[in-house]
Amino acid sequence: MPDIAFSEVTPADARYASLVARSRNTRFAGSPRRVLVPRHTDGARQAVAQAVRRGERLAVRAGGHGLEGLVDDPAVTTVIDVSALDGVAYDQDRHAFAVGAGALMGDVYRDLYLKWGVALPAGTCPSVGLGGYVQGGGFGALCRRYGLVVDHLEAVEVVVADADGGARTVVAGRDPADPHHDLWWAHTGAGGGNFGLVTRFWFRSADAPGHRPADLLPRPPATVLFASAAWDWDGLTEGDFLRLLANHGAWHAKEDTADPAYASLYSALYLNQRSVGRLVLNAQIDAGRPDARRLLGDYLRAVGEGVRVSARTSWETLPWLQVTARDVENRGALTRSKSKGAQLRVPFDGGDGALLHRYLADPRYSGHTTVVLFSYGRQVNAVDPAATVVAQRDSLLRCYLGTYWADARADALHVERVRALYRDLFAETGGVPVPGDRTDGSYINYPDVDLRDPRWNTSGVPWHALYFKSNYARLQRVKARWDPRDVFHHALSVELPG
Ligand SMILES: Cc1cc2nc3c(=O)[nH]c(=O)nc-3n(C[C@H](O)[C@H](O)[C@H](O)COP(=O)(O)OP(=O)(O)OC[C@H]3O[C@@H](n4cnc5c(N)ncnc54)[C@H](O)[C@@H]3O)c2cc1C
Repeated sequence: MPDIAFSEVTPADARYASLVARSRNTRFAGSPRRVLVPRHTDGARQAVAQAVRRGERLAVRAGGHGLEGLVDDPAVTTVIDVSALDGVAYDQDRHAFAVGAGALMGDVYRDLYLKWGVALPAGTCPSVGLGGYVQGGGFGALCRRYGLVVDHLEAVEVVVADADGGARTVVAGRDPADPHHDLWWAHTGAGGGNFGLVTRFWFRSADAPGHRPADLLPRPPATVLFASAAWDWDGLTEGDFLRLLANHGAWHAKEDTADPAYASLYSALYLNQRSVGRLVLNAQIDAGRPDARRLLGDYLRAVGEGVRVSARTSWETLPWLQVTARDVENRGALTRSKSKGAQLRVPFDGGDGALLHRYLADPRYSGHTTVVLFSYGRQVNAVDPAATVVAQRDSLLRCYLGTYWADARADALHVERVRALYRDLFAETGGVPVPGDRTDGSYINYPDVDLRDPRWNTSGVPWHALYFKSNYARLQRVKARWDPRDVFHHALSVELPG
């Protein structure tokens, strides 16, 4: 039997519909001439070579959770879908875990945990793909204790497009002596679709002792104590809203990060649109601590202190693996969205809170806007800003801003809504969270094409400085070396040096 390197799926093929509709954000659906589905690494190399030879504009898809239409861009004529490259294995030679770029987060959590008892400090959505997620930096529920996912990235296997039109596979490692080290570095936070097609990642913590698989990555807690507090919008005054926001910010600003008690705390405060009915704080902590209930209770009390509407709080203790299987960001029928991000060095102040309240309490707006404040810092901030591409290494909170809706005819209304909120929130710095005393740019895994649009970014600070700060110049040098023909590009990709 001849080896089938990749399947070529054209619109006449029954599989086409399934492959082009993989974007979680249904605002985007592409219509490429073909989707190539490689079976193995060399199949991926052949797929890239074919697309380059044919002069196709190509894009790579892994989990389909990208927040912008970077893959479903109408200009893209070939999509290479890496779903079939999804294995998780222990690599005896590298003493690291090899994970295919098409693997989904939930499957990676399951395999790493059930086979070796370890975990990546990765994200909270089981259907996110590793291919897009890791390259952006990757944060999640274990990050305050163990850092970002890229802080555990040992090596990466990439199909790159040569200057002469060919394609080859390169393995690039963390070891500074590796001749391909710059390519490894570029995969630690620049986002997907920049330098080549990633087929595989290897993970191992930088300080891992020896070669026993169970010692090479963090071990998650056996059980997690999970609390969810909800404050109904009914009866909630602006004063209550401001109090809640200020309490939450003050807790994070005052936290003694040298005290290990709250190292395993992870929380997300969802400041939801009034039409959703409630504001929600989801918080979790290692249930194995004898004082877990008291610590989490104290945290919830501190956030809710002085808010006159009392919270409805539910408590659960769950096995760790079950927590990772929950899709907490699922918004049901509201599958269309527009997202933005911001890194906060200090919490939002009263003026910011009043503005957020004005937008979120607006009874005339029918969509579902949410502003989420994720607990951040601790081990994330222990890493040098130049060690990986993730330059934001002293933020207190990571902020996600998004709006969700169902009706395609209302796209413009909802997109404009979240644009206006963001512009007004960061009005003092040109409508975007410029790196400075209060904010520190944004997160490339929350890609936002508005940051390169002078109508929405009037700061004079270019989009790439918002994402990569001073690491951008090095990224451009890597781009020139590894993708000199700019085969891999999209609206927010690293540009060749000018
Ligand atoms: C519901 C939801 C929850 C999320 N939760 C978190 C979270 O907890 N933590 C967090 O850090 N982020 C989170 N994110 C953001 C997430 O990290 C990004 O959306 C990520 O880019 C998705 O990767 P993907 O492979 O699923 O998406 P895709 O759309 O397949 O890819 C995203 C980008 O990466 C490129 N790409 C994909 N695979 C490859 C490859 N093999 N080689 C080269 N380029 C590639 C694509 O071309 C595209 O530009 C969440 C997103 C969603 C929608």
